Amino acid sequence: MEFLKGVHVIETYATTTLVVDDRLVLVDTSSDADGGKILDYLAKVKMKPKDLSTIFITHTHPDHVGGLASIKKDSPAKVAAHRIEADFISRKKMWDGPPGPQRHTPTPVDVSLDDGQMYDGLRVIFTPGHTRGSMSLLDETRSLLIAGDAANNESGLRPMDDRYNIDPKQHRQSIKKLAALHFDNAIFGHGEPIKGDASAKFAELAKRL
Ligand SMILES: [Zn+2]
Repeated sequence: MEFLKGVHVIETYATTTLVVDDRLVLVDTSSDADGGKILDYLAKVKMKPKDLSTIFITHTHPDHVGGLASIKKDSPAKVAAHRIEADFISRKKMWDGPPGPQRHTPTPVDVSLDDGQMYDGLRVIFTPGHTRGSMSLLDETRSLLIAGDAANNESGLRPMDDRYNIDPKQHRQSIKKLAALHFDNAIFGHGEPIKGDASAKFAELAKRL
């Protein structure tokens, strides 16, 4: 569905976000099984994988990186991730955190990102703790945070289940970091997107952590 003008939320197991401006950008690729669903959605909105300029991966969990290889197969898009996460996505390094060893098809990361960097229209906000190199992305023109798994909105805004966080304390510090920013809208890897007053909700949550 088109959540905001030019921002599509694709309802895969972990949300996939498609941003359409003068270029096409995908954020996350859900699981292996959902790769086809993302391609079907692109076809439905009359867009092609070969027109994608960047595929951002917020973190290396299987439900965010699993579909990457199948989408990348027909796309010249650059794969972009935080510098710390890149080697886990390409599988140059063994992932040692929850939910266990990785099985996704190794895919090289073309662009290593740093906190605060602007890349292909989105600002990188480093939000470690869920994984070592997790990031969120800010679309400043739409006042939109694409949170990834920096928080979860499945039954109200809250931290991710600590069984899936490599460093629960750092995960909460990252939520506090997001709470200090201003954004009206937010999209999550898991849970309903928020339209309006989103950063106020983060500020409320941060007070309780
Ligand atoms: Zn995750």
